[in-house]
Amino acid sequence: MRIDILSIFPEMIRDAVGVGLLGKALENGLLDVHAHDIRDFATGRHRSVDDTPYGGGAGMLMQCGPIFDAVESLRPVNSLRRIVLLSPRGKRLDQAMVRDFAAEPDLVLLCARYEGVDERVSEALVTDEVSIGDYVLSGGELPALVLVEAISRMLPGVIGDWESVETDSFYEGLLGPPQYTRPETFRGRTVPEIVRSGNHAAIRRWKRKEALRTTLLRRPDLLETTARRHLNNEDYNMLAEIESEMPIGEKENQP
Ligand code: SAM
Repeated sequence: MRIDILSIFPEMIRDAVGVGLLGKALENGLLDVHAHDIRDFATGRHRSVDDTPYGGGAGMLMQCGPIFDAVESLRPVNSLRRIVLLSPRGKRLDQAMVRDFAAEPDLVLLCARYEGVDERVSEALVTDEVSIGDYVLSGGELPALVLVEAISRMLPGVIGDWESVETDSFYEGLLGPPQYTRPETFRGRTVPEIVRSGNHAAIRRWKRKEALRTTLLRRPDLLETTARRHLNNEDYNMLAEIESEMPIGEKENQP
């Protein structure tokens, strides 16, 4: 998969993609990330890419010209299937969107700065607007990196053990279960006996039940939405068990 990222701070992208599993994925050719400087497409003496907004208001806006030219320099625009603008006004990113993007052969990510972009960029160029959450950052570079890293985990070969992806939070709409490593006892807290038992069927059931419990306690909304279509009869039985195990006060707070 190829991802082109347009930004006025391309070094932020280049510095960050070289490390960890993402860096390995690039090294192994499983993913190809190219960062481009939008300023290279500015025409004035000062290479400025922004101007004041029509109608007044605070701050500056990124102009259409350099952005259109930067995108058009990549490949013919009609051959670019998805051009994604990172924006707090976009659709909030979730795992289903990540999987959908990961299925594309290529993507263009557009990172804004200042107060954002001229609306005609969204109207005429952008296919998707993506937000990484209900808060405002100063630029789209970190959101673009969030998206790239999340996509990379969905690409075959990037994560050595696919089971670890399948048991990650949100894979089936649930939060992940608690996890433990050595030592067996740390400052008086001992790892639950069942995960040390070697009984794989019992461990699998325990992990599923604890994933359901964590989701019920922390994100009950997920059980009503994304997780719902992955739940089977055994899951519903376990949820009933979990509810019966809850102290009275906690039960009353459940939806
Ligand atoms: N005036 C814009 C608004 O109210 O929607 C905010 C502009 S913000 C200061 C500058 C840029 O940072 C945005 O255009 C976008 O590219 C990026 N950005 C900031 N917060 C973001 C978020 N939550 N998700 C995705 N991108 C974000």
